[in-house]
Amino acid sequence: MKCTVCKGPAVIDIRRHNANFCAEHFLRLCRDQVAKAIKDFAMIEPSDRALVAVSGGKDSLAVWDILVELGYQADGLYLGLGIGDYSDASGETARAFARDRGWTLLEVDLPTEHGFDIPTGAKAARRVPCSACGLSKRHLFDEAARTGGYDVLVTGHNLDDEAAVLFGNVLHWQDDYLGRQLPVLPARQGFPRKVKPLVRLGEREMAAYCVLRGIDYIVEECPMAAGNKHLGYKEALNLIEAASPGTKHDFYFGFLARASARFTPDAVAERELLQACARCGAPTPGEVCAFCRLVDRATDREAVPVALGRRPG
Ligand code: SF4
Ligand code: ZN
Ligand code: ZN
Repeated sequence: MKCTVCKGPAVIDIRRHNANFCAEHFLRLCRDQVAKAIKDFAMIEPSDRALVAVSGGKDSLAVWDILVELGYQADGLYLGLGIGDYSDASGETARAFARDRGWTLLEVDLPTEHGFDIPTGAKAARRVPCSACGLSKRHLFDEAARTGGYDVLVTGHNLDDEAAVLFGNVLHWQDDYLGRQLPVLPARQGFPRKVKPLVRLGEREMAAYCVLRGIDYIVEECPMAAGNKHLGYKEALNLIEAASPGTKHDFYFGFLARASARFTPDAVAERELLQACARCGAPTPGEVCAFCRLVDRATDREAVPVALGRRPG
């Protein structure tokens, strides 16, 4: 297998591009794809201060690495979610990555600062763990970016993630979610813009990027993810992609180019109705935001062990 660019020995094939790459040209491809996403969707200005949500997994560490390589000012943010050994290991991985490079990593710990962990919060709120977790993460990322004076919040969602979310939203015709499923969400009420610079790159490419760059990332999946519908959608799309390379890309980018505008007016109208949460100031449709309500229900509860909070797989 030869590199399509230089004809040297290739280390990876990318079937949707019908091309193979050596290490040097693969790393260049990753940086070019991120630069293209940033430019096409006006994600980040050179003068912006970016905050990268870092989980210790391949995608978030890779996007942080690529942004710094591209010359952006980017700090990291790690959220401790209190998910047993998984949180301990992912926190240590994120810290080691930042420490080795001398980069700034902010940390927020949900149990210490808000009095509950995800297994306990999910049970108290009668939500599935990923729902309580997603809600907490969105809130805490927003808050940390706002208080730190960052212009833009970066997440490591890749093409596989976005195609799977889109697939789920289309299967159930979740038009409110479809209106918000964009690679850039504008700033609102003092909260930063949110961007996904990895939308042009897949999961396998991000793992290869980390290996070639010598980035040590946490490989274990979160124990709460078992049985998660999102994983099922990913598997279904992987089967389709294997038979027809490029389908995920066409599905996601076709949606952005040809369908997404039909759903955005409702999402924009919904956003305009938001007001500041009476407790924390976060934008919310009600008087008190969902995170503050979760805190109320989850604190003063007996802690739930990780194994019991886990969804049936
Ligand atoms: Fe949170 Fe679910 Fe992701 Fe685990 S899998 S970190 S519970 S969203
Ligand atoms: Zn090459
Ligand atoms: Zn609130």
